[in-house]
Parts: sequence; C-alpha cells; structure tokens
Amino acid sequence: MEKKSTLTNEEKETFMRAAIEEAKKAQALDEVPIGAVVVWNKKIIGRGYNLRETTQDATTHAEMMAIQEACRQVNNFRLEEAQLFVTLEPCPMCSGAILLSRIEEVYFGAYDPKAGAAGSLMNLLEDQRFNHWCYLESRILQEECGQLLTTFFRELRQRKKEEKAKRKENNKKD
Ligand SMILES: [Zn+2]
Repeated sequence: MEKKSTLTNEEKETFMRAAIEEAKKAQALDEVPIGAVVVWNKKIIGRGYNLRETTQDATTHAEMMAIQEACRQVNNFRLEEAQLFVTLEPCPMCSGAILLSRIEEVYFGAYDPKAGAAGSLMNLLEDQRFNHWCYLESRILQEECGQLLTTFFRELRQRKKEEKAKRKENNKKD
C-alpha cells in the first residue's frame, strides 16, 4: 500500500523551519544542533532538541523529546495521523520510537550517512515487515539543516585546535 503525504510543500517548509528553531536551541547549549517537531492537525504538539551532553543521557535525541511531549499532550502513546519533522535523518532508536508511536509521516532534512536508519544504512521506517510503516520524505530544507551541523563541527574543530595551541603555549612557560 502506497502512503501519501497530507501536507503541502509550504506546510512542509513551515514545520521544518520550526524543527530548525529547535536545533538552534541545542546549538545555544553547545549541543549538536538537531531539532524535531511533531505535528497533528496542522499544529505542533511536541518539540524537542538534542540534549545528550546536558543530560548525559544517550536517549535524549530531538525526536525522542518531541515524541514524549506529543504523547503527553494527547495522553496517548499512539500518534496516528501525526507527522514528525526532524533536521537530520533519524537513528535506529528514534526510528524505533517513531514506529512504536505509529507516527504516519516522517520528514527529514539532511541525510546521516554514518547513523541514519531511514535510508542511509537501512530503512526501518518503510519496512513493511513491521506492523506499522511510514510515509517518508527527505531533503526538506536539506541545505539549511546540513549547514547547521557543518558549521557546528567546524567551530568545534577550530575551538579544539585553539585549546591545544593554548595548552602547548602554557607548557612552554612552565
Ligand atoms: Zn536518534
């Protein structure tokens, strides 16, 4: 059975922009900038951003946070007819949570060739051997979503380089 998107291109961009705003909140905390929103009836019912460093909890990915909030909002673990937007391709854990919450449509921005489970390394979301599968669409505002990450990692490398140089300088003084 072929699944179809229920959103217009304009709506897809609007909601991905909201996910990007979430990613920026992560960035402000020096977290890898990944953001997600869950949409239901054209309204955002869950938002989340990556908090792995802050919480020191490997499960606090953007999608997990957004799904948890959405489930609390509707007081139901089933998010049937909901859409999830995330700036980066979901990992296996988040893809699992998407399937278990029965989210109907998933939209992501950039591909994650090293950890993505929605097309890169595997495709859990469209695997019809599971009792639920999703409509999946990638590359929504791909450039902006990817750029956030590229900039973040470039600045991180730069900062590490500077710290290393500083340490060397201090060692010389000793
Ligand atoms: Zn994840």
